[in-house]
Amino acid sequence: MMPVRLEGFDAVGPVTKAAHNALREAALVRVRPSDRRAAHLATLADAAAHGIVSVHEMSGPSIGGADDLRELLATAADFAGPVVFGYWGQTAAEGGIEMARELGAIGVGGDLFVDGSLGSHTASLVEPYADDLSSRGAQYLSREEITDHLRAATLAGIAGGFHAIGDAACADVAAGVAAVADELGQGLVRSLGHRIEHAEMLHESDIATLVNHGVTFSMQPIFDAYWGVPGGMYDQRLGTERAHQMNRLASIVSAGGRLAINSDTPVTPMRPWSIVRAATEHCQEPESLSARAAFNAATRGGWRAIGNEGVGVIEVGAPAHLAVWEAAELEVRVPDATVTNWSTDPRAATPGLPRLDDDDPVCVATLVDGRVIYGQDYWTERTGAGGSSR
Ligand SMILES: [Zn+2]
Repeated sequence: MMPVRLEGFDAVGPVTKAAHNALREAALVRVRPSDRRAAHLATLADAAAHGIVSVHEMSGPSIGGADDLRELLATAADFAGPVVFGYWGQTAAEGGIEMARELGAIGVGGDLFVDGSLGSHTASLVEPYADDLSSRGAQYLSREEITDHLRAATLAGIAGGFHAIGDAACADVAAGVAAVADELGQGLVRSLGHRIEHAEMLHESDIATLVNHGVTFSMQPIFDAYWGVPGGMYDQRLGTERAHQMNRLASIVSAGGRLAINSDTPVTPMRPWSIVRAATEHCQEPESLSARAAFNAATRGGWRAIGNEGVGVIEVGAPAHLAVWEAAELEVRVPDATVTNWSTDPRAATPGLPRLDDDDPVCVATLVDGRVIYGQDYWTERTGAGGSSR
């Protein structure tokens, strides 16, 4: 459809909503397969060079499109790089489950948009925007549509999920999960590991509901570093009171929630230590994570999000997915007053983590399943081994 006739079209300013999606789709079909492949290879190589062993790709009809996800998964399968898991963001009502299966995606969700973003005033809010009292944002899926999608995904045995940023959007996702659990049983819903992307603005009761139903919170601490600063975008859009309740990392962890922290690239960079640093230095100090909790959320958290409980740790029997870093100094740091059972006594032999007050540690080698995907020379020099091949 012509974008000019769609909601959100603006001839001079930024285009949003349906018009934005239509323009993206029109642009995507013009990307040549060879350029797409080059972009995939460059992205995977960049991830490997920064210690990333696995990428969760949030695709969808208006994000990268079906060809993009299909080709990315095929490229990743025969490239010595990070393991890629695909999510397809299209509702079951639109045929999303069949499409996810056809594409080889492990979830029908990801960037399945319940709402938009705070920057463009399209995140769905309970109360109006502080800088536009006439608007509560946009919502693209109703509570009923969310429930229908999750029910269908649960019955089909595939993980579902949503992009939800504003408090109204997050509340509707929580309500949808609870409604499906009432119908089909909490155990079944928990076993699928549905997820919510971003979840920037959560009320206490919604955290409790999502935690109870085993939903993974997939969040981006660098959002807080970008937008949570005094006078920043959150302050402008939401006013101080609401801005101080954003990206509730510590609240989620202390409620027993499953948290995975990541980049949402291209919104924030694929730089794991920057993500860990942002999580430990939250603009709202009580929401800062301990270094260990942040490290777990950046490593195990991603694997748990896709149902792999024993992965993302370095121990006998675990897959050899790991990265080697050059770091100036290790420390055992508990940056805040959150309750911790992590002993800082050296006799406890708690492994240290790099100090993060300065530049990020430098990745010198990355291994996936024992195979070197970055830093072969370093690895060979240090170990005399080439790494095993898959
Ligand atoms: Zn998103």
